Amino acid sequence: MRIAIIGPGAVGTTIAYELQQTLTDVTLLGRSTKEMHIAPANQTVQAYNIDETDTPFDIIIIAVKTHQLKDLIPKLHRLSHHETIFILAQNGYGLLSRLPFKHIYQAVVYISAQKSDNKVVHFRDYRLHLQQDARTAKLKQLFDHTKIEIVLENDIEEKIWYKLLVNLGINSITALGKNTAQILKIKEVETLCRALLNEGREVAQAEDIDFPDTIIDEIMTIYAGYPDHMGTSMYYDVINQQPLEVEAIQGFIYRKAKEHDIQTPHLDTVYALLMSHHTLAYD
Ligand code: NAP
Repeated sequence: MRIAIIGPGAVGTTIAYELQQTLTDVTLLGRSTKEMHIAPANQTVQAYNIDETDTPFDIIIIAVKTHQLKDLIPKLHRLSHHETIFILAQNGYGLLSRLPFKHIYQAVVYISAQKSDNKVVHFRDYRLHLQQDARTAKLKQLFDHTKIEIVLENDIEEKIWYKLLVNLGINSITALGKNTAQILKIKEVETLCRALLNEGREVAQAEDIDFPDTIIDEIMTIYAGYPDHMGTSMYYDVINQQPLEVEAIQGFIYRKAKEHDIQTPHLDTVYALLMSHHTLAYD
């Protein structure tokens, strides 16, 4: 099996490094040829320029940010064959339909890492959740002796929506509040966060994803366990004036709300303001 990981960032470098420890044909591809350093392993991973690579791969794991996918898609034809399996290892949802290929999967990513320049620090977890079928079962087998754990789901949609809700609450308030997880100590922010989660839950319900009433408290408890100074990716992207993954997270839920005619005043406001940051970062 020839495996390519596209996107030598926090998630992509972690996956490539761990697979390379056991599997023989794993290539990390990026926008340029460069050496990535990975901590705490204190090792290097070579990333190759995607434009200088043209042999097809059997498995392609895409770990670019959601707004970076568009530029990548035209290059994927050259790197794949008819039976290539594509895995989107990204947060958010709604982009699978942009991939004009036969075997495409949305992964729910539980890998916590951060990139700055050419250095990636891995914090915790090595998990990718995927819809169960014959292909993903083989993939799980292939990865069995690596640290990258494939968890097969009977209903991946539920896992995707759960992660969407988790991202909806904390990403929105930390990004717009320009504050780390401690922002939830402000009563009014906590109320806003709960309102967002509640709207997200209603939209999920309209999409036939039935979360129990207790899910809001459950997610708030997860947030309460975050260290005070932990930022989210959207928080860091706002602080660093980078484009945001807003279309694939808040925007995806917003569009679903409109489709189902559900009133989501908090989400509408948050989405509009995040879009403003996103647009400024592109200017
Ligand atoms: P990241 O560190 O910014 O990495 C993205 C990488 O993609 C960068 O190295 C970037 O290249 C590369 N890239 C962009 N466009 C490309 C192209 N056209 N061809 C090849 N490479 C390209 O992002 P990340 O944190 O790994 O996040 C990836 C996805 O995983 C996101 O959807 C994120 O929400 C999700 N996720 C992340 C975490 C986490 O802890 N980091 C956890 C769960 C989920 P350059 O180096 O040239 O900029």
